[in-house]
Amino acid sequence: SKEQGRNSFRFFNKVMKESAKKRMEMEISLRQALENNEFILHYQPKLNIKTSAVYGMEALIRWQPEDSKLIYPGQFIELAEETGLIIPMGEWVLREACKQCKMWHDAGYPLTVSVNLSAQQFQKHDLTELIAKIIVETGLNPDALELELTESTVMKEPKQAAYMLQQLKELGVSISIDDFGTGFSSLSYLNQFPIDTLKIDRSFINDAHENEANQAIAAAIISLAHGLGLGVVAEGVENEEQLRFLKLKQCDAAQGYFVGKPMGEELILDYIKKNTG
Ligand code: C2E
Ligand code: CA
Ligand code: CA
Ligand code: CA
Repeated sequence: SKEQGRNSFRFFNKVMKESAKKRMEMEISLRQALENNEFILHYQPKLNIKTSAVYGMEALIRWQPEDSKLIYPGQFIELAEETGLIIPMGEWVLREACKQCKMWHDAGYPLTVSVNLSAQQFQKHDLTELIAKIIVETGLNPDALELELTESTVMKEPKQAAYMLQQLKELGVSISIDDFGTGFSSLSYLNQFPIDTLKIDRSFINDAHENEANQAIAAAIISLAHGLGLGVVAEGVENEEQLRFLKLKQCDAAQGYFVGKPMGEELILDYIKKNTG
């Protein structure tokens, strides 16, 4: 009836207002968190499957509000992207990760550090300058910095992306395609972009040992990468069986809870001392 329609409109309107309000509150706290330095980085190890040595760390952002529990990026990255806060946040991540990696080098551990870049960061024309500046500032060898970009980020504006990636490569950093296999893009871009590594999405790894289709996909991505002269990393490796499968298929590197969970400052140096070759 008309009355019902009106009621459901009112209800809808109320829900909309509440979610808009929640969003605004969240945006304000994100801004404050950035000002108050409430973000931290955790680091997740990358294992060279052949040598069994840990060679690198991926930086993953977390929000640690004072007196409250840790908040994971799934709960704030999207809003940070929508509000543009990802730009200053991403700059902080880059600088912090490079600083940390330089400290590892100074302590005698020549690890790489991988930083996730959002599409918005990648579309800013001054990204290369920013990264060049951070490299100079921190004194990090650019060889040690890897940028992780998703297929969809790169495929938004393929022409511009090719130019941007070329510029980044000239700085000496490496480029990795994250969540590979989950996008809907054609494969023809792979040999047009200066990419170093493919990261197989964890959805193909997690149940690879019991799912033959996923096993076939993971194996195909490994041989595709090698055929193109690229490295290949499997993410989401949670048990020995998965690692054994990847070794059999000659995957270069593995990441996942079985290798090591993302770790904060208290744990990471100990882990590095025990696990680097
Ligand atoms: P991602 O780049 O694909 O990172 C991998 C995610 O999978 C991480 O979640 C990691 O903790 C989780 N993971 C690692 N190993 C395993 C495993 O064996 N099993 C399972 N089930 N999960 C595993 P996290 O840290 O919550 O990050 C989620 C996403 O947030 C990241 O996905 C990335 O897209 C984004 N993100 C994280 N840090 C940053 C950042 O500094 N900047 C940007 N732009 N995005 C970030
Ligand atoms: Ca990543
Ligand atoms: Ca990923
Ligand atoms: Ca992902």
